[in-house]
Amino acid sequence: MTLLAEAKKGLTDDIRNVAESEGIANERLRRNIASGRAVILKNATHDVTAIGIGQTLRAKVNANIGTSIDYIEKSEELAKAQIALKFGADTVMDLSTGGDLDNIRREILREIQAPIGTVPIYQAAMRRDAVVSMTTDDMFDTVRKHARDGVDFMTIHAGVNLKSLEVLKKSKRLMGVVSRGGAFTIAWMTHNNEDNPFYAEYDYLLELAQEYDFVISLGDGMRSGCLHDASDRPTFMEYIQIGELTQRAKESGVQTLVEGPGHVPLNEIEANVRAMKSLTGGAPLYLLGPLVTDIAPGYDHITGAIGGALAGMYGADFLCMTTPSEHLGLPTQEDIKQGAIVTRIAAHVADLARGMPRAHQLDKEMAQSRARLDWERQFQLSVDPELARAKFNCRSRMTDACSMCGDLCAIKIAKAALNDSKP
Ligand code: SF4
Repeated sequence: MTLLAEAKKGLTDDIRNVAESEGIANERLRRNIASGRAVILKNATHDVTAIGIGQTLRAKVNANIGTSIDYIEKSEELAKAQIALKFGADTVMDLSTGGDLDNIRREILREIQAPIGTVPIYQAAMRRDAVVSMTTDDMFDTVRKHARDGVDFMTIHAGVNLKSLEVLKKSKRLMGVVSRGGAFTIAWMTHNNEDNPFYAEYDYLLELAQEYDFVISLGDGMRSGCLHDASDRPTFMEYIQIGELTQRAKESGVQTLVEGPGHVPLNEIEANVRAMKSLTGGAPLYLLGPLVTDIAPGYDHITGAIGGALAGMYGADFLCMTTPSEHLGLPTQEDIKQGAIVTRIAAHVADLARGMPRAHQLDKEMAQSRARLDWERQFQLSVDPELARAKFNCRSRMTDACSMCGDLCAIKIAKAALNDSKP
C-alpha cells in the first residue's frame, strides 16, 4: 500500500517521524498527506530519512547536480551534492546526461543522505540516436529502472500533451519551450504525430508509482523562459492539465508535486502560485526560481531567490535553487554553494512570512545574541557560519564589538545608557 493510501487510513512511522522533525501534530500532517496537500519523499526501497513537503511544513530547497555530455566527472557531482546539503539543501536531483548514467545515479543514491530526484526522460532519450526515436517502452522502462534503484521523486512532463501543444503553437512566445524535458516531449509528439506517452498512458505511470511509492513531480514543460512569455496561455493550459493529472494520481493513492515557472515578473508571482494551488487542489508546489528579471546572467541565483521568497510567501513549498551559472554553463562547486545559500535564505524568508514558529525562533535567537554581542552564537545561527566568522575576524578590534563602530558601538552605548540588562 502506498503512503498516501495508508495516510487515508491512519498514521505511519514516516508520518510520525516527519511530523516530529517539523514540530507539528501527527494528525495534522496525516490529513494534509491524505488530501494531497503535502507529500513525503521516500521510495519504498531507498534507505533514507523521509522528508515532507507541503502545507504547514518548512519550505524545502532542492539542488540540481549532474554530469553533462561535455563534462563528465562523477566525483565532482557527488562533491557538489555534499556542498549543497551542507549549505541548506534538503533534496538533490541528479540531472546527469553524460557518462554511465545508471552508475552515476546508483552511486548518488548510495552516497548522498537525502531524498533523490531524477528526470527519467533525459536517460530514455539517450537510448536512441535521436530524441524522437525513443519508444514508449524506453520511457516507461527508464522510469521503472529509476524507481527500482530507489529514486524518491521523478519529474514527468505529463502535462505536455496535444492540447497544450496546440495552444503553444498559437502563442506569440519569444522563447518557445525552454524546459529540456518539455522540448524532448514536443519534438517527440510532433515527429511521431502522437500524444505524449506519459499523458496517454498515465495510468501505467501511476501503477509504477504505486509499486515503488515514488512521488511524481508533474513537470512544467511549458514554463516561461523569459518575462515576456510568463503567465501566457500555454503556461495556464499546462496548469489545467497538471491539475487533472494531480486529481487522478490522488484517486490512485499516488503522491504528486507540481512544478511551476520559470521566469515571472514580481507582480505576477502571486497570481501564478494561487492559480496552481487552486487548479491542483493545493498540491505541493515546486518552483525553479521564479527568476524575476532576464538581465542578470551571473547573478540568477539572486533573481531566483527574490522570486522564490515571494512565491514561498504565497504558498510555494519547494524551491529549486538556481546558481550563478544559470543560462551560462554547468555550475561549479562554488556556484552550488552560492545557489544553496541564497535559496535557503529565500525559503527561510518565506517561512517567516508564513508565520512558522521555528523560523521566527531562529531570528529571535539571532537578535538576542546580537544584543549580547555573543559572536559565537551569531556564527552558529548564521546561514553561512564560515563566512560570518571570516568577516568578523578580517579586521583587528579593540573592543568586544565588531570593527564597524568599535568603541562607538550603538548596542553597547544604548545598553549602558538605559542600564538595560536584557535580554
Ligand atoms: S560595533 Fe556597530 S555594527 Fe558592530 S555590533 Fe556594535 S553597533 Fe553593530
